[in-house]
Amino acid sequence: MLPVIALVGRPNVGKSTLFNRMTHSRDALVADMPGVTRDRKYGEGIIGEQAYIVIDTGGITGDEHGIDHEMARQSLQAIEDADVVFFMVDGRAGLMPADEMIADHLRRTEKTVYVVVNKTDGLDPDIAMSDFHTIGLGEPIPIAAAHNRGVTVLTEHCLSTF
Ligand code: GDP
Ligand code: MG
Repeated sequence: MLPVIALVGRPNVGKSTLFNRMTHSRDALVADMPGVTRDRKYGEGIIGEQAYIVIDTGGITGDEHGIDHEMARQSLQAIEDADVVFFMVDGRAGLMPADEMIADHLRRTEKTVYVVVNKTDGLDPDIAMSDFHTIGLGEPIPIAAAHNRGVTVLTEHCLSTF
């Protein structure tokens, strides 16, 4: 069985961008429009000899009606399906109420969770990360998925535990 990594977080934090990096594909739909990925999407990636499965999700808004409700349901299912969760947050937006809500859920799961702070390109790392220490889900890890920065280190670190 390959390790399964779920990408979870609010819409527009860069989950599909990271999915594409981790699967070397352009399959996941990336758009400026929040909430564009409504279904879970599975892809396969490999680093060195270690293959893995990654799941892209639509995102959790904290305002779960209609499509938002379905997206949240898919995200919760992805967490169940996964060995590891990459909880993605936006280093530019800072900590948002919906992030706190997702963190509350993740604190109650048995899964290994990494807080992944995306969009750190051009930001002061100390300032960008300081917000996210308060989440209480371990040391936040900075990346810039769009620039492929930090992605390999993060994935290797995660896979080294399998
Ligand atoms: P999702 O809704 O979480 O899947 O987010 P997307 O992957 O669709 O990305 C949302 C927006 O954030 C797009 O405009 C991306 O180009 C942008 N984005 C993603 N990663 C980065 C990054 O590392 N830096 C910056 N500055 N923008 C990014
Ligand atoms: Mg997406």
